Amino acid sequence: MPYRILTRKTLPEYLLAVPQIRDFFGTSPLEVEEIGDGNLNFVFVVRSAEEPRKSLIVKQAVPYLRCAGEGYALSRERMTFEIRALQGYTRHAPRLYHADEAMSLVVMEHLSDHTILRKGLMEATRYPRFAEHIADFLAETLFRSSSLHLPSDEKRRLIDRFNANTELCRLTEDFVFTFPYMPNETNRIEPECRKEAEALFADVAFKRRVLGLKYLFMNRTDALLHGDLHTGSIMVNAEETFVIDPEFAFVGPFGFDIGALFANLGSAYISHFYRGGGESYRTWLLETVEEVWKRFESAFLALWAQTPSSALLTPGYLDSGDLEPFMRDFMREILRQSAGFAGCKMARRVFGIAGVEEIRGLADPAERKEAMMRALATGRALVMAHDRIESVEEIVEIIGRA
Ligand code: ADP
Ligand code: MG
Repeated sequence: MPYRILTRKTLPEYLLAVPQIRDFFGTSPLEVEEIGDGNLNFVFVVRSAEEPRKSLIVKQAVPYLRCAGEGYALSRERMTFEIRALQGYTRHAPRLYHADEAMSLVVMEHLSDHTILRKGLMEATRYPRFAEHIADFLAETLFRSSSLHLPSDEKRRLIDRFNANTELCRLTEDFVFTFPYMPNETNRIEPECRKEAEALFADVAFKRRVLGLKYLFMNRTDALLHGDLHTGSIMVNAEETFVIDPEFAFVGPFGFDIGALFANLGSAYISHFYRGGGESYRTWLLETVEEVWKRFESAFLALWAQTPSSALLTPGYLDSGDLEPFMRDFMREILRQSAGFAGCKMARRVFGIAGVEEIRGLADPAERKEAMMRALATGRALVMAHDRIESVEEIVEIIGRA
């Protein structure tokens, strides 16, 4: 079917022509509501008029930035990569009912009992199983798409399937690694922060470190990443965790998704000097950083131990005792990358185009400025220290100093 933009009116006819969706809804008429709070795409809930609890989510990409309007072109092929990434997830992702690359559209499970993690964290809610689930998601997705698991030819085919997500990679290169640290019209600098912004733009030692991390982002092909794993791309409740919105998916450095998560836990931590979660909630956030890493590391190593043969490892090449120091250094390198990317992701939210609601949404201007400066100092400290980090406790210590 040739691409066309669907609306509340035209969606039901399209959906009812898809057998799995007709099976799901039966003969009931459908009700459609647009719910997208995201910036890029159209998201609808489709409900059975007869049984309103029976519902699905439809997401369609349009060839421009939804929040900015048709003047801001962004090719809709980003949905192709979102579909491919979602199809590869085996758990902690919404079930897919239908995917149509030509229509840049996906139909998935409606997570009606789940909250966007960012909102839950702003309200100081604790999610007791979150660290376990997200660590499992990270270990599975990163390990299974790496040369530690795949044979060489499959790994190269995987790179080919995601290589063309060029526009969204470019957005990250510009808006995470470049513009927030130099004069640029997309930045948002409040007048009372102008001096601090100028100091950042002149901080050449920091900017050289960011350049190194940008190079890593552009040139490493460790594993298939989600590419935008902030707390707005995770839906949770007390029992379950789901990752959504992998439209930035590409094959990149191991530490990039983990770093995004650390950065967002870090900004939630800072925001709770002002939002009422108090010290005990801040402590829970720091414990979550530590638990995510420790569980990730042990899950990743467990997968590795079960995989004697891969693109990297040929049976008989090294016995497991001789391999051990290599594995230890390997995990430390992932941790260091994660710290560096976490630093960029925290720092870029301060003056860059896309802030985080938990900090930019602080109503009191003095508190907002203080929180922004804490986030900047923390991001900078992570970037400057990242290549000497030995343990996750050091990352927790840096965030905890905010
Ligand atoms: P965008 O790429 O435009 O940012 P998202 O995939 O983040 O779009 O979706 C936008 C919003 O729609 C999410 O923040 C969430 O509130 C809602 N949403 C998306 N997918 C689901 C889902 N499967 N179940 C429930 N809500 C969803
Ligand atoms: Mg998105």
